[in-house]
Amino acid sequence: MRQTINTDCIFCKIAAGEFGTEFLYESPEIVAFRDIHPKAPTHILIIPRRHIPKVSDLTEEDEKLIGRMITVANILAEQEGLRERGFRLIFNCGRESGQEVFHLHLHLLGGRLFNWPPG
Ligand code: 5GP
Ligand code: ZN
Repeated sequence: MRQTINTDCIFCKIAAGEFGTEFLYESPEIVAFRDIHPKAPTHILIIPRRHIPKVSDLTEEDEKLIGRMITVANILAEQEGLRERGFRLIFNCGRESGQEVFHLHLHLLGGRLFNWPPG
């Protein structure tokens, strides 16, 4: 059976409600909450409740989940007033990307002008 929770993982604990984190969105599969060190006026993390370390661990079975994460990003971007202004969605994957928390998360960033290419 595929692993569902990692007891050492900070995002598993957040998803389980252990810290009383405010969820901007929650469903049986997904939760979203504000990043503790925001890199933009809006910085929200959208995560599956299930412990998946990174993008490269996803399988075809997860396609619906990932699609839903994008839909949640759109819902939250609308709520944050970013639909017209624009926003950035980021998955960091692995060491060279700068991924620090090895529980899959989609960054929703907005409310300022971003550079391209990213640093
Ligand atoms: P990564 O570099 O892994 O893609 O991004 C991890 C993000 O998680 C960082 O932006 C970091 O600020 C955020 N983060 C790390 N620990 C916590 C936490 O305990 N609570 C919240 N809300 N965000 C966290
Ligand atoms: Zn986890």
